[in-house]
Amino acid sequence: MIDTVVPARSFVPAFVVEAGEVLRIEDLAGRQAADVVLMPVDDPHDQMSCIYTQLLNRTTRITHGHVIYSKAARPLATVVEDTVGVHWFGGGCCSAETNEFRYGSPEGGSCRENLVESLAGHIAGPAELELDAIASLFMNIAIGPDGGLEIVLPTSRAGDHIDLRAERSLLVAVSACPQERNPCNGFEPSDIALSTSNP
Ligand SMILES: [Zn+2]
Repeated sequence: MIDTVVPARSFVPAFVVEAGEVLRIEDLAGRQAADVVLMPVDDPHDQMSCIYTQLLNRTTRITHGHVIYSKAARPLATVVEDTVGVHWFGGGCCSAETNEFRYGSPEGGSCRENLVESLAGHIAGPAELELDAIASLFMNIAIGPDGGLEIVLPTSRAGDHIDLRAERSLLVAVSACPQERNPCNGFEPSDIALSTSNP
């Protein structure tokens, strides 16, 4: 069972959530993105696919009742509670490269670096962590009527959470997004809480 805090800007080593357990990911202070990777323990290459999750649920707004699917279109987890309803399941996350592109410097930390370190010993290197396998919980990306896309303040408040019931035993990695040069963490990165229960 898991009951821990991902410190602001950082990560915890990847951990296992057994099939049937419910993982709660909680935004302790509010307005904080949590980037998450799910991999089946018995088939780590069949990682979560954000694209299939959107296409097979036929929505870009993944929330309560939706199933998170793998690259092989197999159910990995079901969203059994969601007090926010605003997440980014378009894939990708902040990285040294996007920091360089957007802000002229690779520094400042990133979810990609956090997640690769979190998965050390489970993946051979960054290339094994596909962008499609990364969901940004509580991340608020506004899409305008013209298709324009903008990172805006999360709507999550202190204590908001999303509960994922594992449909298979899963290896889970979580990054408390370190980004402070855009609104995705309210310009003030903060902690994320993780806990599991066995209903
Ligand atoms: Zn990030």
